[in-house]
Amino acid sequence: MRHLLHVILACALPLGIPAQAQAQSDTLLTDVTIVDVAEGTLSPGQSVLIRDGLIAEVGEDLGSDTTTPVNGAGGYLIPGLWDSHVHIFSTPDEPDTALPLYLINGVTGVRDMGALWPIAEQQALQARIETGEVLGPRLILAGAWVDASPGSWPGMFLADTASEARGVVDRIAAEGWAAVKAYSMLDEATYLALAEAARDAGLPFVGHIPERVALGTAIDAGQAGMEHFGRVAMACSTEEGAMLDALRTAMAEGADLTRVFEIMAARNRIILETWDETLCDAVLARLAQAEMHVSPTLVVADFYTGNWPGPDTPRMRMVPAEVRSAWGRPDFRLEAMTDEVRALAEDSIALDRLTFLMAHRAGVPILASTDASFANPYLFHGFSLLDELDLYVAIGLTPREALYSATVAPPRFFELTDQDGTIAPGRRADLVLLDANPLDDLSTLRDPQMVIIGGRVLDRAELDGLETTLLEHGR
Ligand SMILES: [Zn+2]
Repeated sequence: MRHLLHVILACALPLGIPAQAQAQSDTLLTDVTIVDVAEGTLSPGQSVLIRDGLIAEVGEDLGSDTTTPVNGAGGYLIPGLWDSHVHIFSTPDEPDTALPLYLINGVTGVRDMGALWPIAEQQALQARIETGEVLGPRLILAGAWVDASPGSWPGMFLADTASEARGVVDRIAAEGWAAVKAYSMLDEATYLALAEAARDAGLPFVGHIPERVALGTAIDAGQAGMEHFGRVAMACSTEEGAMLDALRTAMAEGADLTRVFEIMAARNRIILETWDETLCDAVLARLAQAEMHVSPTLVVADFYTGNWPGPDTPRMRMVPAEVRSAWGRPDFRLEAMTDEVRALAEDSIALDRLTFLMAHRAGVPILASTDASFANPYLFHGFSLLDELDLYVAIGLTPREALYSATVAPPRFFELTDQDGTIAPGRRADLVLLDANPLDDLSTLRDPQMVIIGGRVLDRAELDGLETTLLEHGR
């Protein structure tokens, strides 16, 4: 890992100037139009003074004796983007690629939702990013995933009883994770104990809705964040309870994993046949009332439908060769799909998208998210977040609403004290300069003119340098 990070630092920084020293000097960014994503308003002709990684002042006639102004050339300044569901620690080298991919795409914050690295090593990298020693987005380490034994992924926290759930939360709290993440195979009693223990420990309780737990039960248990979207559409089916019971019964009778996957895969057709709009309105009203934040990861559907980028696209060439070749091998999640399920996939995706639009209109808070990981074929750090936002607009959100889910909603949900999706004094200087108004069209996000991370300015030439390094590394 260290080797490529070193190369990136060497190419991105003037020789002899440590990243940390640079981040702590003043920067005066002039002639920008500030985009207020929360309000949907523009303030042209502004300057932004950045000091010690924070926004110090915003106004029309700012001066600074201590620095040469950086000309924003009339560009549009937005808060940096967040991807609220990623996995950057699934291989020893993944951050080498993931961190610069995020920056070149204007993503200045990510929440990691499940990792194969020890927490201490994740925290060490997080600290090096915070000091500016390593260039990368702000990290939230929320990957303390808890599952029933033997665990869906290696290295998970495991709990099969209420007392084990409490013990696991004690460890999660002691190790310094940002949240407790429920996973799919937990039984209901253990899940409820986990929710209670997380609340007692003062940790946000987020994650999957377990496959044997009703969405309404998760709302009542106080789950604050839901990963992925399929369970919303399932809760809009009049047969949600029957589907849960079928799996509970089979597992109680000792069904093997193949049978369990069959039962779960059969849900798609049932949901399509029994999805009910009136019921859905009621479910969505409850979700909105509870302010359960949903991380939809709709872009994951591209993987199941084979909407994969060609081998010569820049995004593919920026991924390490061994990852590309692993992505080309058959995946167990695709192999687990029967032909019948595959044929239903398009209809299920369309229903998810309709339900997503209804959820948004009902006021369910959304955190833009992708599930990007080397372990998830054809989901890309950085690029996939922009795809996800485009998808929200294609489904019916305005560009401002899509942008809100990536800039304003995440830092507020994470309760960050120095970030709230506004560009104002005291806020962290995580910013992106664009050459067109993103409230009109998000395509301008594809070509940021400047990305500012913790006060450190990466201009277009430096972003190009990161891209070049990634392309060389991806060979
Ligand atoms: Zn994930």
